[in-house]
Amino acid sequence: MIRIAVIGCGIVGAAIAYELSSISQLKVTVIDAETPASGSTGAALGLCMGVISQKTKGKSWKLRQTSLERYETLISELENINSEIIPFNRQGILMLRYDDEDRHKWEKLIVKRSQQNYRLEIWDLNKLRSKCPQIDNNKVIGAIYSPDDRQVHPQILTAALVKAASKQGVEFKFNTVVEKAIIRDDRAIGLETASGRIDLDWLIVSAGLGSTPITADLARKIEIRPVLGQALRLKLERNLGNSDFQPAITFDDIHLVPLGNGEYWLGATLEFPPETGEIVARSELKAEMKRNAIANFPDLAAAETIASWSGSRPRPWGQPAPIIGKLPGYANVILATAHYRNGIFLAPGTALKIKELIEF
Ligand SMILES: Cc1cc2nc3c(=O)[nH]c(=O)nc-3n(C[C@H](O)[C@H](O)[C@H](O)COP(=O)(O)OP(=O)(O)OC[C@H]3O[C@@H](n4cnc5c(N)ncnc54)[C@H](O)[C@@H]3O)c2cc1C
Repeated sequence: MIRIAVIGCGIVGAAIAYELSSISQLKVTVIDAETPASGSTGAALGLCMGVISQKTKGKSWKLRQTSLERYETLISELENINSEIIPFNRQGILMLRYDDEDRHKWEKLIVKRSQQNYRLEIWDLNKLRSKCPQIDNNKVIGAIYSPDDRQVHPQILTAALVKAASKQGVEFKFNTVVEKAIIRDDRAIGLETASGRIDLDWLIVSAGLGSTPITADLARKIEIRPVLGQALRLKLERNLGNSDFQPAITFDDIHLVPLGNGEYWLGATLEFPPETGEIVARSELKAEMKRNAIANFPDLAAAETIASWSGSRPRPWGQPAPIIGKLPGYANVILATAHYRNGIFLAPGTALKIKELIEF
């Protein structure tokens, strides 16, 4: 058996563990300092913005395309294995528009997506009003509708991946901090944890922000910095607008995510770390986000805030997100980290890529 150790059980580590669990020659162990989805994944909203993104070629689009495709099979596969539903919004993503200056950019993207077999539409104000009467802001001129994009519940998906992977033989060690890697020549051969040593043939680092100290310990430090995001859970007496049409709606880089029964997630702020010291969530940015949402959806003024949280996105420093591939200088250490704002979306594609990189 080939022994694989995965450090980190956020969405990325969990997706890798599940994807590797179908290979009978592998013995996979996942180690997390806390419980599944306790890092960035625990704060995320789960938008999968692929078709509506401006990426159209190269490895960045390929990863998006692979993730979009894998999501369509993954959710039902996990639901069948676990006999549990995973909230997965198939009604697409709607992006509000406030001016027409970028029309040419969208028209070009629509042509490109159609060649790639994806749908994307420009809606004028009349169409938007008829489909989404909850939007009432005289600054809105229309929208882009992307029916093939998705939104998934990140924490339920992570739990489902863990459950299915354990059924297929993966071992999980939670509340176990990886303290040190044991190295021989250009290979990691083991991990030291508070509860003992784990021997390995391949090491996968999917520890989000925790990947920086791990790679520093391997003398190949990868700088990943936190970008804070705050979000809210709002409750209304009923769904906004038309109950049969509840896509995730994005405006000014903020998302309104329907959860059913009049509940919505609203998020997230984008807060960069200061030059020195810790990032602290700024309450005025959260208040501004809510004001902005009410300006577009006036009925939200009556909503009760039933939860409020923040989390940190793992953003790579000096290189594009995400970082997937072998750690330089090592023959058997693979990085699957720094997914910044798209880790939920890109986790399934990342897991498939990691499967290709493991030689067995
Ligand atoms: C507010 C907010 C909204 C977001 N919305 C979206 C969205 O809509 N769509 C989207 O695609 N993405 C979104 N993201 C980004 C997304 O959450 C991240 O890109 C993704 O969760 C990263 O997953 P991960 O598994 O790499 O990291 P994490 O979820 O952070 O997991 C890393 C794990 O590693 C463990 N770990 C770290 N160090 C060690 C160690 N030494 N030993 C053992 N374990 C260790 C941690 O305990 C943690 O559980 C959002 C993020 C935030 C904060």
